[in-house]
Amino acid sequence: SRAKLFDEKTDVKVTFKDVAGLEGAKEEVQEIVEFLKNPEKYTNLGGKIPKGALLVGPPGTGKTLLAKAVAGEAKVPFFSLSGSDFVEMFVGVGASRVRDLFKQAKDKSPAIIFIDEIDAVGRARGKNNMSGSNDERENTLNQLLTEMDGFGTNTNVIVLAATNRADVLDKALMRAGRFDRQIYVDLPDIRERKEIFEVHLAPLKKVEGLDTDFLAKQTPGFSGADIANVCNEAALIAARNNKTAVDKQDFLDAVDRIVGGLEKKNKIVT
Ligand code: ATP
Repeated sequence: SRAKLFDEKTDVKVTFKDVAGLEGAKEEVQEIVEFLKNPEKYTNLGGKIPKGALLVGPPGTGKTLLAKAVAGEAKVPFFSLSGSDFVEMFVGVGASRVRDLFKQAKDKSPAIIFIDEIDAVGRARGKNNMSGSNDERENTLNQLLTEMDGFGTNTNVIVLAATNRADVLDKALMRAGRFDRQIYVDLPDIRERKEIFEVHLAPLKKVEGLDTDFLAKQTPGFSGADIANVCNEAALIAARNNKTAVDKQDFLDAVDRIVGGLEKKNKIVT
């Protein structure tokens, strides 16, 4: 199947209240929202608006969600693509795709560009290059660097990129004027898990008085994505048992299923 060019969303509905926990990260991206909404306020004083920020953290912790919320809060279009899409591309396509993406975003600025799994394109150059198959990836990375360097101070496009492997990234990406800010998006602690449960329980038909402290306690090590899964799975289990509301036992059964799935996944990986 052909990889998609990139995705463009003009009316993003996600806002900060959809992102539970992550107070520090939200505070940091709040500034990016301000830049997008009111760039003159900053440039009038001679300041340079940052071009990019790297969202760093384990899978499923809400990096994509947070990037979308920036676009939703600032009411700007959200252009996104995944670094792993480039891996399958023919020679020359990756770089021209990056060019197209930046051109479209500039035409519609202010805008957010979001690059998920940037490590797939942004791995340090000149390593693991025995097959020569990394040339295309390097071309794509070089084009990305070129585009970011080419931004004028008034371009008003901010590039957010996500990775769970900041350590493998080419240092050139982190240089001043590129992804020179790193924002950590960690696994939720118990209090944050409670908040994430509250977000994902809201749309469910459930029994009164479900104890979210208890659910948070039952789910150490779970990511936000895992918790969203638990809530959905609990609703499916309740329906399968012909219940009219999701109850505590359904959540416990869902937690067991997700734990089982996580264990299996870890076994395959290691
Ligand atoms: P990956 O590294 O795997 O791409 P990610 O960090 O980008 O993961 P998201 O795709 O943003 O994670 O999260 C997946 C889903 O998990 C979200 O759409 C949301 O439903 C839920 N989720 C994750 N984190 C949170 C959070 N902090 N608050 C509310 N929901 C969350």
